[in-house]
Amino acid sequence: KKAKLPYIKSIHDFDFSFQPSIDERRVKEVLSGRYIHNGENILLLGPPGVGKTHLAISMAFEALTQGHQALFITANDFIAECQKAEKQGLIQRIIKRYSRPELFIMDEIGYFAFDELSAHTLFQIISRRYEYGAMIITSNKSYVEWGKIFGDEILATAILDRLIHHSTTFNIKGESYRLKEKKKAGIQP
Ligand code: ADP
Ligand code: MG
Repeated sequence: KKAKLPYIKSIHDFDFSFQPSIDERRVKEVLSGRYIHNGENILLLGPPGVGKTHLAISMAFEALTQGHQALFITANDFIAECQKAEKQGLIQRIIKRYSRPELFIMDEIGYFAFDELSAHTLFQIISRRYEYGAMIITSNKSYVEWGKIFGDEILATAILDRLIHHSTTFNIKGESYRLKEKKKAGIQP
């Protein structure tokens, strides 16, 4: 509950046969939790509906089961938290809160642009965690588009450098699972 997972999804509910671009063995390797001990990052990239959030939650849940502390937030909620904290003079508290846990999960980078404050706050968190605290990041945008998301090419590059340096990336391609379920129900997308 303290990890603020939006809901529980298990890896056992994930149909790997529907998503052949995901190597099941690499996911199982991640679930073993070694990346947490090594302070490494997991990047889940791909279009909407391919299972990024499902996998991120499964990985976070597994980490909690193994006794690690984890903290989950969507990029959008993070931006809102930063704006609220700024008004109250509490940005340092945000930086501390998200720098501390062994695992920090940020879901859905790319749907909304970061303003300058939230971009810089995230950069400080990522800098503090670099080579020390593991992260799971999901995004629907390719790296070339991150400059636009953060409104600053240099900052986006600095963020990406640190995220990617010690990381495992899953580039998920393919069809949305949501659309598949709609089609099955006979609903035209
Ligand atoms: P994304 O975050 O990539 O947009 P989600 O992880 O939210 O996609 O997936 C959308 C919905 O489809 C969720 O309910 C998720 O549990 C389900 N889903 C996606 N991919 C799979 C899969 N391969 N097997 C089972 N369920 C899946
Ligand atoms: Mg998602």
